[in-house]
Amino acid sequence: MNKSFDLFVIGGGINGAAIARDAVGRGLSVQLAEMGDYARGTSSASSKLIHGGLRYLETYEFGLVRTSLRAREVMMRIAPHVVFPLRFLIPITRTQPRPAFVVRLGLWLYDTLSERKVLAPSGRLSAAQVRALPRLRKEGVRSILHYPDVLADDARLTLETLLDARGRGADVGNYREVTAVRLYSDGYLVEYRDNSGLHTTQARFVVNAAGPWATRVLQRVENMERCRKLRLVRGSHIVVDMPEPAHTDAYTLQIDDKRVVFVLPWLKCYMIIGTTDADHEGDPGNVQCSHAERDYLIAAYNQFFNPAINVDDVVWSYAGVRPLIDDDNTNLSQITRDYVLEVEPYGRGGLVTVYGGKLTTHQNLANDVLAKIAGLGAAMGPAWTNDVPLHGGAMDRRQLAELAASETVLTPQIRERWVSTYGSEAAGLFEAVRNDPALGREIVPGVPVAELVHAIKVEDARTCEDFLYRRTKLFLNLNLEQTTRIQTWFKSRLCAKEDTNEHGYSRKVG
Ligand code: FAD
Repeated sequence: MNKSFDLFVIGGGINGAAIARDAVGRGLSVQLAEMGDYARGTSSASSKLIHGGLRYLETYEFGLVRTSLRAREVMMRIAPHVVFPLRFLIPITRTQPRPAFVVRLGLWLYDTLSERKVLAPSGRLSAAQVRALPRLRKEGVRSILHYPDVLADDARLTLETLLDARGRGADVGNYREVTAVRLYSDGYLVEYRDNSGLHTTQARFVVNAAGPWATRVLQRVENMERCRKLRLVRGSHIVVDMPEPAHTDAYTLQIDDKRVVFVLPWLKCYMIIGTTDADHEGDPGNVQCSHAERDYLIAAYNQFFNPAINVDDVVWSYAGVRPLIDDDNTNLSQITRDYVLEVEPYGRGGLVTVYGGKLTTHQNLANDVLAKIAGLGAAMGPAWTNDVPLHGGAMDRRQLAELAASETVLTPQIRERWVSTYGSEAAGLFEAVRNDPALGREIVPGVPVAELVHAIKVEDARTCEDFLYRRTKLFLNLNLEQTTRIQTWFKSRLCAKEDTNEHGYSRKVG
């Protein structure tokens, strides 16, 4: 007997997650399949910015910037544990590609288009503030402008959205690959494979939210002839140790080739430097930062900071593929980051394919997808996601700090890391350790058993990589022997999936 749902979502990246959460909250029955781990595609490989996208003003995408800035406010409200406001600095130099007045105009527009309730407006640093900035090369710098934006944990944002959808009744699963979508009566039969075999689900509506794999998924849909061309554009980042004294601000650097490179303080001890734009051929799941991209990012940093960094300072690098709509633009940075939805009605239902999009606008995208599904005849409730905290988002940062400080179990470091990783859900983890002190035993220093059990039981981790790379970023802190110990623990508990390590999740030992 086939299972039956109103909506089947293909893809457990941020967009599939947001669509599933929104739909189930509006009263649809929803099933979601992710062929690997949640967020294993583009949604764990972004620049991690929930931002308006200052540079999209250059391509006159005012609507996209306004929508994104509003989405930024929403995320700060509903997911305070996965978003981190930062001050971004833009050094204005004599030789930069954009005149200073253009940057100032851009910031004025950015302020005007946003509905800032929490974040400060943009402005200019005083001479004394500029002098106090560590490591910035001051020669040639005429002034430094600043504006606020927000850094997010992209993989956890995706996961929290999926856990929220599940909490509301959606059937959400990873390591489920959709192999075929067949026409059936007045809807679809969706076939997917997981480790227990092949399954079939009946659904009236299907959403293809497979990101860079969207066109490949369409090839698995019976009688599907329409298919847009996607341009797969790789973007890479390098991660280096945070030097002392630490940068507390992020930087938006204008590079001579007119591109922008971000330097982002990350997890207190690291800096992310990125990103690049390069055409990508082949499997979107097999993507790595090339040596040329790495060298480009190192040179971009060194143009503005002293002492210089070199290849040996890079502790990790990662890359992802943007699924952009192919508009034949030769300048890859200028292809729109907005999304397009294609609707294919069928019987009493239909299929919606998502092309493109940004991490920032995932809730808007979900809302638009559901409007298309309503247009195909589905009855559903009104929009709701802008005001309801996400899974783990029930406490603001002050309350989370109080929670960590008031607990007596575990070390202060673990408590602090747990509240910033799991948000308000950390309370349940503390309680578990209080009730069963054996769960507080640290498998490796700083990683108690309770966290691994939670990763498997609540967050669907199936491999060591799922836990160390996407549920947490612990791989950056562990040595090979410690990583192996966690790997062994996972294998003994699950005896199931092989570790893929597709993102190269071990820190490079220098
Ligand atoms: P994905 O995250 O790729 O998810 C698609 C999922 O579908 C994958 O997990 C895949 O495994 C699954 N799938 C595929 N085929 C099947 C199948 N047959 N069955 C089941 N599942 C399947 N946006 C911002 O807002 N801010 C930024 O700072 C930012 N920086 C970026 C930097 C880079 C380098 C890149 C590449 C993108 C950046 N983006 C940014 C864009 C943002 O990351 C993407 O728009 C977003 O992550 C896309 O999410 P998605 O869910 O559409 O795709």
